[in-house]
Amino acid sequence: MGHKATIRPSTAFLTVDPGKAGRQVGFLMIPHSPHDDAWGVTRVPVAVIANGTGPTVILEGGNHGDEYEGPIAIGELIRELDPAEVQGRLILMPANNVHAVIAGTRTSPVDGLNFNRTFPGDPRGTITQQITAYISDHLYPMADAFLDLHSGGSSLDILPSAIIEPTEDAGLRRRNIAAVQAFDAPMTVVISNLGESRTATAAACQAGLVTVGTEMGGGGTVSLDALDVCRRGVRNVLVHLGVLDEKHKGPKRGDGKILELPGSKAYVFATMDGIFEPFHGNGAAVSEGQPAGRIHCTWDATREPETVHYQTDGILYGRRQPGRVRPGNCCLVIAREYEGPIA
Ligand code: CA
Repeated sequence: MGHKATIRPSTAFLTVDPGKAGRQVGFLMIPHSPHDDAWGVTRVPVAVIANGTGPTVILEGGNHGDEYEGPIAIGELIRELDPAEVQGRLILMPANNVHAVIAGTRTSPVDGLNFNRTFPGDPRGTITQQITAYISDHLYPMADAFLDLHSGGSSLDILPSAIIEPTEDAGLRRRNIAAVQAFDAPMTVVISNLGESRTATAAACQAGLVTVGTEMGGGGTVSLDALDVCRRGVRNVLVHLGVLDEKHKGPKRGDGKILELPGSKAYVFATMDGIFEPFHGNGAAVSEGQPAGRIHCTWDATREPETVHYQTDGILYGRRQPGRVRPGNCCLVIAREYEGPIA
């Protein structure tokens, strides 16, 4: 268990009792008072499935509202798991950034915020900040482990992978790596988000939770392969944590190799306004200095395309989905062999 966060006063409340055994399906209610609803609430779906003794695991989907495999897999668990199959407690949250999930957008249409840049939230802040504050203050302290199921979203197509959130705590790092490898995705990747501390997974590590992330496909669609990887991976991790019985475990398929995004060199950013033409597909082996693609200004034929280059050796891990780019857009992401500490 992590250290208890200071409990800040909040008006949010749950319609389920996390202390009760069995299956309950309800909501985290955030009082929300816009023009057309003076005393209404924002309803964030939450289910609790608890039985016997064992760890408490939070499963998060819909952190970004345009990433679909995780929310589908969590919804299935809510409907299909028999509480008698569980040892411990699952807190299942398929659509945490609920207004973004309903809109099918990355960020919340209510306050414009990226949920995954708001931890530890603010119970007196905007709706997004209030949701993340409730998770930080009330749910993380109940939990032993956290699964945050992302995909690439509308703008990125990413190779299906399980993600390790880096931590300075060697014991937690060891447990995180073991849990992420138990997910058994085709790839395992360490992603630091350049040291970003306001993400759900960084905050979960800060709270001492065993933390597992994913990047399941993307491009704003549902990938058949990634959905299969996600369904099996979630159950594999729950078996690893002792919440589900071995019979839920899928056949081994990952090679156990760990990759990482090597800091800022991982990214190829657009250098001009235009249309990005990639030179390689996801999974291609690439090298530092090699031309990665070029940007065309199709509305001005007098302008030469601008070529952009890879800044590191590695494999092409993700690629921008829309062709249209503006300066600073992330066009390509490279992963390479992980060289950091394992334990
Ligand atoms: Ca995401």
